[in-house]
Amino acid sequence: MTIAGALLIGFLLIGLLVAGILLFRPVKQKVPDEPFPKKWSALLEEHVNFYRRLDPAEKERFERWVQSFLLNCEITGIGVEVDDLDRLLVASSAAIPIFGFPNWTRYPNLREVLLYPDTFSDDTFATEGEDRDVLGMVGWGYMNGKMILSKPALRLGFEQTGRSNVGIHEFVHLLDKSDGSTDGLPEYLLERQYAIPWLDLIRKEMEAIREGESEVGDYGSTSPSEFLAVAAEFFFQRPHHLEKEHPELFEMLERIFKQDLS
Ligand SMILES: [Zn+2]
Repeated sequence: MTIAGALLIGFLLIGLLVAGILLFRPVKQKVPDEPFPKKWSALLEEHVNFYRRLDPAEKERFERWVQSFLLNCEITGIGVEVDDLDRLLVASSAAIPIFGFPNWTRYPNLREVLLYPDTFSDDTFATEGEDRDVLGMVGWGYMNGKMILSKPALRLGFEQTGRSNVGIHEFVHLLDKSDGSTDGLPEYLLERQYAIPWLDLIRKEMEAIREGESEVGDYGSTSPSEFLAVAAEFFFQRPHHLEKEHPELFEMLERIFKQDLS
């Protein structure tokens, strides 16, 4: 090997080492050092059903989680204004699915949420067709660590009383993805002995959607990961309705998310 060749390899190795250190150094999480703003509590009370149902101690835990999320994850508007309510709705969408896991203080795979100005009519939203996911997306490849949400869809999810909530939908995808595969089985959340029963139930419930015998939105029949996300929206938005119509599914979702919503 020539000296130039050896030098080149040496530089490459040093480069790789530096890149490795930069990529894998633990990111220090910022901790809130100010009280939760009173006007934020009022906004949560007004707009977030899930928060409204909590007792005072749980509300305080929810607020701390939301505050810490907002310190550590950037919310960026792409051609739209982002105000306090938008930030709080993104943070609530993140908090709701993992509220049953007090040790989960953050989504390790998320640095930034981008809000887009997409507009669409109410009936497009209600149909939950093939285009459903353009309202939100979890980034892959170079978009890893980012989530995209339509700002009007985010707001509508919290305003309406139906089964849909795009913010919750996308954060459930992120939880599903956190074990390395987006497959409808959130392995960090569900104890191992329930994995097979859960996958069996998904198959059965997807079949029921296709046969028109399910209250779960049609989009849930496109794949197991979409089933989990759509069923989770239903679970958090209309728990009593889901419990009445699909008791077995309801019970399994309570087990996955460690939350008693009955
Ligand atoms: Zn989806």
